[in-house]
Amino acid sequence: MPNSLDQVIRPEILDLLPYHVPSSFGMVKLDAMENPYSLPKTLRDEIAQLAATISLNRYPDTNADLLKSSLRGAMEIPAGMDIMLGNGSDEIIQIVALALARPGAVLMSVEPAFAMFRMIATFTKMEYIGIPLKANFSIDLDAMLTAIDKYQPAVIFIAYPNNPTGNLFDAEAISRIIESAPGVVVVDEAYHAFADTSFMSRLTQHPNLLLMRTLSKLGLAGLRLGLLVGRPEWLTQLEKLRLPYNVGVMTQVVVRKVLQHSDILRQQTDAIKAERVVMSECLEALDGVEVFPTAANFILLRVNEANQVFLELKKRNILIKNLDGSHPLLRNCLRVTVGTPDENKQFLWALQALITKLTN
Ligand SMILES: *Cc1c(COP(=O)(O)O)cnc(C)c1O
Repeated sequence: MPNSLDQVIRPEILDLLPYHVPSSFGMVKLDAMENPYSLPKTLRDEIAQLAATISLNRYPDTNADLLKSSLRGAMEIPAGMDIMLGNGSDEIIQIVALALARPGAVLMSVEPAFAMFRMIATFTKMEYIGIPLKANFSIDLDAMLTAIDKYQPAVIFIAYPNNPTGNLFDAEAISRIIESAPGVVVVDEAYHAFADTSFMSRLTQHPNLLLMRTLSKLGLAGLRLGLLVGRPEWLTQLEKLRLPYNVGVMTQVVVRKVLQHSDILRQQTDAIKAERVVMSECLEALDGVEVFPTAANFILLRVNEANQVFLELKKRNILIKNLDGSHPLLRNCLRVTVGTPDENKQFLWALQALITKLTN
């Protein structure tokens, strides 16, 4: 007779809650940091023609050399650095963790941070340590340096800008962390397109720095492409864990085509950055709303009754992210992605009406 599931499946997997993606059908979708704009018709037609020529019966190029050289051109990757591609950057986080998961090895990050850091530590049997940010969401450098000394983390993940808070940590503090770390530090620049700064040029200064980017927040979330940039000695080892055909042929071809039109993506991100300013100002003008500074394509805010506001917005078909309860520093916090001007107006009007109703 076979054993019951809980005698076979690892206990820490039995304890996990499934990653919850709420249904968004027919809603104003401002919960997942997607670019709200589609590509222009002419480019979509070009992609359709290109797709018709692809040999779907063949495996993709495992090295994706053509795609990597397009990315090199588009992202100012320093000479001498290698690129590893992932099925989204989530997969890259997992590859890094798998490679470093010696018994007892620690994966460290700040809190609150991207939820996948902790989840993937669990998947890979790493020990997770999260160091709380300060109340204004800046990095607590003293606490980080003490924790690095104590736990000797194999890897530290730092999102720059951070999700879900949206701010950029002090670059010199991150450099100190990299210099003090006994293992590798991954700077996750998922929101790079919306921030005017990067650690890319610092790769040459720090032998233990790896830099991660994704095309998801830039407008290609559906294609699933992330990349890790770093020294060949690191990436040669990590490549051994990458499944050979993790980046499909459609993704390789379509991303190359879109990168030939990077002006379009830039126009879209510029529009999002301009709307971010408009939206922040409108939110700041509302009584009872605290707005936190952002360098990403979303805004973190604090209201009086976050759960109620979230549910009432949902009833009005507006989906944002409720962060209340996810971390003590995020009490009554909501996260809203910057959408199109029209979507943002719908959100702002609904929020204003609700806040007026709730305070009277
Ligand atoms: C969204 C996000 C990612 C994951 O993006 P992929 O779609 O898997 O490429 C990684 N890091 C942070 C901080 C994110 O917010």
